[in-house]
Amino acid sequence: MESHHPLTPAEDEPVPEGHKSGFVALAGRPNVGKSTLLNALLQQKIAIVTPRPQTTRSRQLGILTTSTYQIVFVDTPGLIKPRHKLDEAMMETAQAALLDADVILWLVEASEPPGPADRIIAEQLRGLREAKVILALNKSDLLPPEKVTTAVEAYRALLPDAPWILLSALKGQGCEELQQLLVDALPEGPRYYPTEQVTESYVREIAAELIREQLFLQLREEVPYGSVVRVEEFKEREDGSAYINAVIYLERDSHKRIVIGHKGEQLRQIGAAARIEIEKLTEGKVFLDLWVKVEPHWRQNERAVKRFGYG
Ligand code: GDP
Ligand code: MG
Repeated sequence: MESHHPLTPAEDEPVPEGHKSGFVALAGRPNVGKSTLLNALLQQKIAIVTPRPQTTRSRQLGILTTSTYQIVFVDTPGLIKPRHKLDEAMMETAQAALLDADVILWLVEASEPPGPADRIIAEQLRGLREAKVILALNKSDLLPPEKVTTAVEAYRALLPDAPWILLSALKGQGCEELQQLLVDALPEGPRYYPTEQVTESYVREIAAELIREQLFLQLREEVPYGSVVRVEEFKEREDGSAYINAVIYLERDSHKRIVIGHKGEQLRQIGAAARIEIEKLTEGKVFLDLWVKVEPHWRQNERAVKRFGYG
């Protein structure tokens, strides 16, 4: 399949004969471990991971470069049924990534039998005739050995022609074999990104995501789903530290009160945990100035969804 990525090779970097490259879209229902796998393959945290579904909202690139190949992973929001404008934007992002990919890596949860969402995705993938699909059965660490055969057969039945692999993104098991399967499926091509580039996102975007991750980890129910985080200011200081001014936008006043908490305690905890994660990313000290504002019902509002950078 031809890729439609509007990219030119990074020309200053010669590559050996037979160099392979291309786009690999990570598909799969929410919570199967797509972001965890991306971080494991890149050995760096660029995608947020939470135990709750639908936390990945926008397209996230992860670039894996070796001397003989370059794989550009596209982590997509899970494929779901849209409920509001934000969901619609997320679905469009996910589908565009599937159409543009050289290879689709379909991730499923091996520790659970296929559900309706898996069947819908399988049907979509069977419809993409020219696409190469690889089936990855993740969370093998949760699968007792005597259940492996049943699990593999149940998922393979949904997409019989696809090469498959059993892996644990969390434990890093099977990741090397998976890389080999992907390289086998990729076409020959140039290096699209410079060797040292791991993602297309700016540090400030990842920082905003790391704050949003804490909202999901520390707050219950619907509050985090209606949140969006914007980094308004990101200043690197001469001593290598960074000053970050970020705003958490929420849909309601009641949500704002929850996020701030009694005497600001909740917000302090969110900020402290996010700061630790951002410091791992920037490898330096971070001063995080965190604010909370209300943007009523922004998820229903197409313009607000766009303004916050989705779709
Ligand atoms: P995504 O929605 O598909 O991006 O899923 P995430 O990467 O955010 O992971 C969802 C949850 O599954 C998180 O709690 C992860 O820690 C967990 N998870 C991901 N991969 C594995 C795995 O291989 N084994 C186990 N036990 N848990 C995993
Ligand atoms: Mg994700």
